[in-house]
Amino acid sequence: MNMQFSLNDRLALVTGSSRGIGKAIALALAEAGADIAVHYAGNRNAAEETCEEIRKLGRKAQCFQAELSAPDASKSLSQDVSNALGAPDIVVANASIQDRVAWEEITEEQALRHYQVNVASILSLIQASVPAMRERRWGRILTIGSVQQTVPHPQLAAYAVTKSALLNLVRNLAKQLAPDGITLNNLAPGAIATDRNAEALSDKNYRNLVINHIPAGRIGDPQDCAGAALLLCSDAGRYITGADLYVDGGMSL
Ligand code: NAP
Repeated sequence: MNMQFSLNDRLALVTGSSRGIGKAIALALAEAGADIAVHYAGNRNAAEETCEEIRKLGRKAQCFQAELSAPDASKSLSQDVSNALGAPDIVVANASIQDRVAWEEITEEQALRHYQVNVASILSLIQASVPAMRERRWGRILTIGSVQQTVPHPQLAAYAVTKSALLNLVRNLAKQLAPDGITLNNLAPGAIATDRNAEALSDKNYRNLVINHIPAGRIGDPQDCAGAALLLCSDAGRYITGADLYVDGGMSL
């Protein structure tokens, strides 16, 4: 089994790996043997810290900046990574934006920005990544969804609709890419304690409300997502494609 989970000689690009779930996944893949392209939007120091932690594991790491709300940003990101480190064997599309706003107040600009970062930029990243994977007849693409794909949240409609769309894209492309030895899966976290929800969860009442919806009885940790991601990015997960794996302590049930 150790061999099946080994990522020796693999290169992984993990978007949004300067912090949170992306960082935990990047470190898990590095611990399994992969070199990592660490992506960030604006937080260079945090990205450098992730790289430093990866290097301590004996793997190569390099930071790449890209603001994914800009059209074609993920194509440039893919090109930058390929020029510097080679074409990735593994792509984890983890970065997303999430505005907490009542549905009546969502602007078209806001809805389109969510779509650009959370769906369109991921489609472009997949388009840019697949040719090299096809040549090798080996590739792993993992998108990070959310329980909000199916669990309605009054302040997250703009975000939730993009996560549903992303899952649809995963299922569509997984079927088309399977003959090329490429798997494409979605990992859907529940409530995981990261910077994005730190403020909301600091409200004791809201925190208790969230915990009451989690059968496991606790908010998750980014590390809780790491093992599932490794499974879906390694040979151990070679026959899993088009799957939607909840990592949510039962929150979606
Ligand atoms: P996070 O702590 O807020 O980190 C977000 C990451 O994405 C950072 O690396 C950030 O880069 C990058 N990023 C943010 N906006 C970006 C943009 N416009 N363009 C490019 N990169 C951008 O996020 P997280 O909570 O770990 O979430 C990771 C993934 O899990 C997301 O897809 C999220 O939707 C999903 N998820 C999270 C939860 C949760 O409870 N936390 C639940 C369900 C799903 P900088 O550091 O440079 O800003």
